[in-house]
Amino acid sequence: MKFISTRSSSEVSFTFEDAILQGYAPDGGLFVPATIPQINSETLERWSGLSFTNLACEILKLFVGEDEVPHEDIDRICSKAYRGFQRDDMVPVLPLAGGVFVAELFHGPTFCFKDFGLRIVINFMAYFAEKRRQRITLLVATTGDTGPAAVKAVEDSGSKFLSIVVHYPHGQISDFQRKQLTTVNSQQVKIVEFEGGGDDMDGPIKNILGSKGLGGDRLVCGVNSFNIGRPLAQIPYFVWTYLRVFELRGISWTDPTKFVLDAIVPTGAMGNLTGGYMAKKMGIPFGTFTAGVNINDITNTVFKTGSIKKSSSAMKRTLSEAINIQLPYNLERLLFYLTDGQHKLIKKWYHSLDNGGETELGSWLEVLQKEFQSARVTDDQLCVTLQHFHNHFGYIADPHTGVAFAAAQEFGYFAGSSDTSDASSKPVAVMGTASPCKFQHAVTVALGEAKWEEYKQASFPKLGLEVLSMPEIPPIHYDIKPGGSLEENQSLWEDSCVKLIESIL
Ligand SMILES: *Cc1c(COP(=O)(O)O)cnc(C)c1O
Repeated sequence: MKFISTRSSSEVSFTFEDAILQGYAPDGGLFVPATIPQINSETLERWSGLSFTNLACEILKLFVGEDEVPHEDIDRICSKAYRGFQRDDMVPVLPLAGGVFVAELFHGPTFCFKDFGLRIVINFMAYFAEKRRQRITLLVATTGDTGPAAVKAVEDSGSKFLSIVVHYPHGQISDFQRKQLTTVNSQQVKIVEFEGGGDDMDGPIKNILGSKGLGGDRLVCGVNSFNIGRPLAQIPYFVWTYLRVFELRGISWTDPTKFVLDAIVPTGAMGNLTGGYMAKKMGIPFGTFTAGVNINDITNTVFKTGSIKKSSSAMKRTLSEAINIQLPYNLERLLFYLTDGQHKLIKKWYHSLDNGGETELGSWLEVLQKEFQSARVTDDQLCVTLQHFHNHFGYIADPHTGVAFAAAQEFGYFAGSSDTSDASSKPVAVMGTASPCKFQHAVTVALGEAKWEEYKQASFPKLGLEVLSMPEIPPIHYDIKPGGSLEENQSLWEDSCVKLIESIL
């Protein structure tokens, strides 16, 4: 399989190795596979008998050519990536009420769905680094879960060729997430705290990733979800979730395509949504995708009005910080697929956006709305929802999954029967993106101190308690120049970051 850019003709193609090591395509677009493999119902039926790991391997083999990475190496990469998950079934899919199911994607080593994408990408990077005998340093800015998942994946890869620098904004990630970063003691891992807004390091990082020749033969790579490896590695759990709901509903394989599953995804950079949509494009019968967003609501504006403009106001603080976003990277991939790969149109739209302008989807909005919808959820609504779920189902959700539950309520998915096998209720899978254990503050705001303590006593994951008990190592700090503008500080931080990368052996 070759990879192409969302902004150029498919005549220019790249290998999978190029695509995941380069992150962005040379023309500024995002990589996508040149074609989407098509799955028929016989294959789907056969897949229903596979373990999660075997299913994921089969799916990845459809996208990564055997000529590039031999199948047995893919098997090895997958089983290494999925080591450290806390459950053998990897993703439990639980019926809640009506037609609503929750896919718990947070039983990985850092309690977040990002373990799936990052551990696959990073183990592929380790594989290519070893093959090239070249050092690779990963560069990450995080407002929450990307940093811990990436750090853990680098550590667990055991590769002496890989290292990572993670930046987080001071005071803007949860205590648990900070501890996941600052308790790692490794020469290959550098943790940096900076004084600024959630995305203030994005510019400096993009500059460094775009500059050639830094640090001699070292490659500096980005693993945020502009990297195609992330959405690709997230396809398997959408397929898995489809198959598990299919079984729970007691559907027969005689006419499987009649069974259509909707999905609701707490949405930030749209990497998760893109993985799901790619699964649908492969022929898995998914219906409507709903994006749940908070008051940083660009996705909601795009889906409702077709108008795209990077938010000019600063990011607003919320209880669901991991989905605070100003312009979701993966919207570009979504638009590429919706327009059936019209790269010239994508290039035109993004030329305008990249230069601070806006874009109108015009008649494409209708195409979008046939498959996507969105709900904007305030913190107050979120708290009411978290209370409701706790009271009615005894279910404690993290604030991001809570946003998706609120969206499910808004679109009436809970209406009707409380019997989850009742075929009359419209089936939908809510993507549970993180464990509540990472979000003490939000859970306490919504449910109160006593419920948090109760949860901590009864259901807190054991591995999580270990994180809490380990000593923290103070992070590196990027200073701000007193009275300096954001641009001046960003330029100072960029210099500090380059020096830091060069200091890693
Ligand atoms: C990153 C994250 C999201 C958003 O996922 P995207 O793929 O960026 O849309 C949702 N929930 C949690 C808990 C996250 O960490």
